[in-house]
Amino acid sequence: MEAVLTTSMDNQTLLTMQEIRESNARSYPRRLPLAIKRAEGVYVTDMDGKIYIDCLAGAGTLALGHNHAVVREAIEEVLESYLPLHTLDLTTPVKEAFVNEVFEALPKSFAEKAKIQFCGPTGGDAIEAALKLVKTATGNRAILAFQGGYHGSTHGTLSISGTLSPKQKIHALVPDTHFLPYPYEYRCPFGIGKDGHKVSSTYIENLLDDPESGIVRPAGIIVEVVQGEGGSIPAPIEWLKELRRITKERNIPLIIDEVQTGIGRTGKMFAFEHAGIEPDVLVLSKAIGGSLPLSVMIYDRRLDQWEPGAHIGTFRGNQMAMATGKATLKYIKENQLTNKVDEIGAYLKQQLHSIQKSMSSIGEIRGRGLMLGIEIINPAKTANHLGSYPAFPELASKIQQECFNRGLILEVGGRFSTVIRLLPPLIITKEQIDDVLQRFYEAIKSAEDHFGLR
Ligand code: PMP
Repeated sequence: MEAVLTTSMDNQTLLTMQEIRESNARSYPRRLPLAIKRAEGVYVTDMDGKIYIDCLAGAGTLALGHNHAVVREAIEEVLESYLPLHTLDLTTPVKEAFVNEVFEALPKSFAEKAKIQFCGPTGGDAIEAALKLVKTATGNRAILAFQGGYHGSTHGTLSISGTLSPKQKIHALVPDTHFLPYPYEYRCPFGIGKDGHKVSSTYIENLLDDPESGIVRPAGIIVEVVQGEGGSIPAPIEWLKELRRITKERNIPLIIDEVQTGIGRTGKMFAFEHAGIEPDVLVLSKAIGGSLPLSVMIYDRRLDQWEPGAHIGTFRGNQMAMATGKATLKYIKENQLTNKVDEIGAYLKQQLHSIQKSMSSIGEIRGRGLMLGIEIINPAKTANHLGSYPAFPELASKIQQECFNRGLILEVGGRFSTVIRLLPPLIITKEQIDDVLQRFYEAIKSAEDHFGLR
């Protein structure tokens, strides 16, 4: 350790080295300029000894926070057992135990008909697998995705993601991808607000039945139950039920991307449970690996039309990630963490609403469980007919910076980069939430002052 952590390695030295040697595509360090020395629970300590509350948590990956005892024990157990650390897709007792835990966490009716596939370790890898699965099973080629959706950075996943800027310079994205309007009350694609989701489902149903829609029968529809990168936008329950009905009636596989929402984040183990629906294909990554890289796709066995070896990959046997993933799932279940997420998320939302009253730049507070978004707007401009104000990305970025200065790490994203996103570890306590709120309050106050809004 000594050799790595020399005293000359302060934040600035490491950040400068990173800037010189790492890709220009690096992203987080540009907005969160720190180098991390240590991390425990919701806290991280930088090289200069400053302590932060981490409400980014590896973009929602660290369900139990940093270095949770059960995660560390699981790693130690694997090491002591001399299990292979890498196995391709060969099985081991650790893998079997992980699969048991995953299937127990699923709604029973889905688990009974489900198969699991281990994919390359990232969320994007598993989404790629899901696209190929439904194309293989249906023989169809079109994929329907949603505006504002994010599914990864590979060619295939970028093709089905809404985000435009990373697409601009990439030619030959996957053809036969079509985008549908996702319900987003504050910036309603239909200009009607609250009932926009009803128009969206009517539009989708019509599009699928219209023999002149221009879109051939799709291989599948992919959706996030709460859009994450799109700006923490929860889909209305009624819309989700409609989407399930529409796809089921037409036998179109519904792929639910729970890479970010899965494993307790929204106050249920899986976000689709809020709507009482079930996917045909469920994609999980981030938290399922209990801090380590892992991704899986779980799907209705009727779709299992692959030939042997039809979708492979070297890194599908990370034993440590399976052990930490299992330990995480078990801890969430045994400690009824989803109920706590529900409670603490509601408290956080309510307190943010109180802050909203004394600020002029918060347009909307939304989300489910501990996946919340705060839409920052410019109150000095004119609202549209729905009362929604234009985005204010410079202010959102200033708030992020003011939070960072006060030892609070959070992300900014969403359309126009104007949504403050909160994704704290699920183990965060009420006292820690109060601390987050205090720092956020001071940060937004100072940022509003800076722009002369107060
Ligand atoms: N799907 C969703 C919903 C995501 O939020 C992300 C990552 N933010 C991905 C897919 C892609 O995961 P990865 O970055 O691990 O490829």
